[in-house]
Amino acid sequence: ESFEGDQSGSLQPRQTPGVFYSKVMPSPVSKPQLLAWTEDLAAELEINAPNEKDIELLGGNFVNPTMQPYAACYAGHQFGNWAGQLGDGRAITLGEWPLRSGHSWELQLKGAGMTPYSRRADGRAVLRSSVREYLMSEAMYHLGVPTTRALSLVATGDPVRRDMFYDGRPANEPGAIVMRAAPSFLRFGNFEMLAARKEYDHLRQLADWTIENFYPHITGEDKTLTWFKEVLEKTATMVVEWLRVGFVHGVMNTDNMSILGLTIDYGPFSFLDAYDPNFSPNTTDHPGLRYAFGKQHSIAYWNLGCLANAIAPLFEDTAKLVKSLENFAPVFYEKYYAMKAGKMGLDEVKGNDIELIDQFENLLATLQPDMTIFYQLLIELPEDLQDEQAIAAYFTPALYDQLNSSERELLSKNIKNYQARMALNKTSKEVAKSQMSTNNPRFILRNFLLYEAIQELEKGEDGVFKRLQAALQDPYSKDHDEFFKLRPEWANEQPGSATLSCSS
Ligand code: AMP
Ligand code: MG
Ligand code: MG
Repeated sequence: ESFEGDQSGSLQPRQTPGVFYSKVMPSPVSKPQLLAWTEDLAAELEINAPNEKDIELLGGNFVNPTMQPYAACYAGHQFGNWAGQLGDGRAITLGEWPLRSGHSWELQLKGAGMTPYSRRADGRAVLRSSVREYLMSEAMYHLGVPTTRALSLVATGDPVRRDMFYDGRPANEPGAIVMRAAPSFLRFGNFEMLAARKEYDHLRQLADWTIENFYPHITGEDKTLTWFKEVLEKTATMVVEWLRVGFVHGVMNTDNMSILGLTIDYGPFSFLDAYDPNFSPNTTDHPGLRYAFGKQHSIAYWNLGCLANAIAPLFEDTAKLVKSLENFAPVFYEKYYAMKAGKMGLDEVKGNDIELIDQFENLLATLQPDMTIFYQLLIELPEDLQDEQAIAAYFTPALYDQLNSSERELLSKNIKNYQARMALNKTSKEVAKSQMSTNNPRFILRNFLLYEAIQELEKGEDGVFKRLQAALQDPYSKDHDEFFKLRPEWANEQPGSATLSCSS
């Protein structure tokens, strides 16, 4: 938590004017041990399974002669305030990994030691946060949500000191390193940094380089504007996908917003258990609930405003830039209602559907059923279910609290409206069902499951970890129903199993 925008200490972060990154080597560790390796990603990246020597590399003990490791410099708005220069404080890019296709991917070690941007922190990551990032980026990938990936998880063999252990005790925790991979880890904050320093030539170069490398189809006079529109579009898509699967990022600061519209920097994230739009897993995010589940689209818009502001000096006339920023709501809502229709099995969004979808949203927010279980039940909803009691009984497995009579009435009214609308579908029931099954995950990587896996791993056992790894690769199937259950009571008050703090 102390890293969040904290510039007040006696040790000031090193300022690096005129440069956009700093060369830095990973710091060695005692005993790197491979805990996980992502085979499908390795295959995609044309990387062989790691041997002993490679594991030393994944632990930061050496780099290949062709690698020129660096930490990137960026700035950001954190919790609504300008935080100035930040930068990769514990992530070190080893280089660009070229693929036969001509594309390349940035490979990063997270937790590999201090960089010029570490401020007063140690540049390390604890096992618990590394396990969370490793599993969650892969879970999101298999859900079909745009995300950075994780190639390896390596225990360092070294303890990491954390002032506040998540059960409230100071402790040494085991350290670990994740190798992250993405076409690029550039963030909105990289652009904000150059704008804040008024290094407009560099800003122009960075924008051009980003377009050339990651948006190569964009050319012509208005290319910077077109590019911004596409970043906005990708960002909207990413948030809609989060809302589809029930993901709360938890720290949507502009330094955690990918310029490629990828989910990036997994920290105090969570899936929703109970459907509460005001839920934020981030204990630092009180009482404002700035980063709550249901506010993510408006924060994305706010963050895009920061990006627009940063790149504004590249425009002679900013009117079009402002206009495309203001277009966020229509872009977002079109995607949003299409997504909701997909989850509900509607063949299209027409007529009163928007009202129906909004009422359904209100129903969920009022009853707060388990989001995942509720939608799974909706897929199998029997057509002849008409009676209020019967409808309430049918959805009971998704409920954390018993319904009172007005809630029962609200549920049955909504379900009847929904059934009536479904009867108007032009597509068959089978098509609707399969549409719902591909849009509603049955397995989500809940925080309490991660907590259980971490507890075991800290004792040297990997049973839960391995089972979660298998389940997350197949989130729409019924093959992993051992995890298809409500969040248990014990998890409600257990720090780390429902809510988390920012940096670990
Ligand atoms: P985050 O909240 O994880 O996005 O981190 C915000 C800033 O703090 C980034 O600049 C991080 O690089 C930095 N940071 C977080 N944890 C550490 C750490 N253990 N050591 C060094 N820098 C850190
Ligand atoms: Mg970050
Ligand atoms: Mg983080």
